[in-house]
Amino acid sequence: MAPRGPVLAASLVRIARRCGRPGCHCATGALHVGYYLTRTVAGKTRTVYVPVELVDEVRGWIGEHRRLKAVTRELTELAVARVSGHVRARKRRAGRT
Ligand SMILES: [Zn+2]
Repeated sequence: MAPRGPVLAASLVRIARRCGRPGCHCATGALHVGYYLTRTVAGKTRTVYVPVELVDEVRGWIGEHRRLKAVTRELTELAVARVSGHVRARKRRAGRT
């Protein structure tokens, strides 16, 4: 269950954009391509630039979040089964089927 490293609940997106600097090549030619993390904080989308040398590592951190989410889902199923098992046992004891 414990995280194996940083945990990142966000999406990694690749964005091509114009920087807006006058005379920059991107105004007419190839756009600037960069990686960004997006996540929702209090209903608003927050975006953070990711330097290219961190991209692979960041992917791993996002994968770790996905893994923990899957583990949490399984644990939730077990907890729910425990609750409904308890209710069933109580009904049996009370003589109702
Ligand atoms: Zn530019």
